[in-house]
Amino acid sequence: MVSRKPFVGGNWKMNLHTSEAHALARAVANSCNTPAVDVAVFPAFPYLVEVSTVLQGQPNPGVLLGAQDFYPAANGAFTGEVSLSMLQDHGVAAVLVGHSERRHIIGEPETLINDKVQAGLEAGMEVILCIGEKLEQREAGKTDAINAAQLAYGLAGVKPEQMARLTVAYEPVWAIGTGKTATPQDAQAAHAACREVIASLFNGKIAQSTRIQYGGSVKGSNAAELFAQPDIDGGLIGGASLKSDEFLTIVQAAAARSEKG
Ligand code: PEP
Repeated sequence: MVSRKPFVGGNWKMNLHTSEAHALARAVANSCNTPAVDVAVFPAFPYLVEVSTVLQGQPNPGVLLGAQDFYPAANGAFTGEVSLSMLQDHGVAAVLVGHSERRHIIGEPETLINDKVQAGLEAGMEVILCIGEKLEQREAGKTDAINAAQLAYGLAGVKPEQMARLTVAYEPVWAIGTGKTATPQDAQAAHAACREVIASLFNGKIAQSTRIQYGGSVKGSNAAELFAQPDIDGGLIGGASLKSDEFLTIVQAAAARSEKG
């Protein structure tokens, strides 16, 4: 059996201003820095520099700095957009791609999501590809088909050796920010199905070593039972990542799973 190091990301979304971002980054750097778990935070663009400064002073292994979005071109006439090299200038090492709020509120198409996955990996970033079904799709029994299609689109053109830096976040849209969480059994079933899709797109070895996070109203109180599932390798956390003590409980739940092997 391959052991996958759990990965917990805090997606701060469009929340917090300078002093709050500074305080949260400091608390996360001080309390959530453990070799048992990879931890990343994803502040809003204007606070990346502030958070980067806070994180730079921490000991190894360090909390990774992530960005919530970017544009997959090197530079040029793309008003309002931010490139990967601009992010790397400020120590950004991880990027989110395909988050449901970008797919369904902003309207990002699969072609752009795939361009971003490929550009992020080419630039040497840790890429988290977010996928997941809407409520009506789950009720119609289409969860696995939607996840399979989003994986196939998102991972098109990715080289096998790049998959070591690719994490999948399975985030059922109906569970994001709603307080509703998939049961550990339903989440496990979806994760296992995603792993089979990755095996069919690449091979079994890559499928076994690819981390698949769960996201959707994860809290300190439900993280342990979700992360205890064999195919759930940590989480992508929204609301609960804004409170350092709650986020720490979630990271500790991931560390406990890591220690169990
Ligand atoms: C997310 O933003 O990816 C997310 C899962 O949010 P929340 O934890 O608030 O549901």
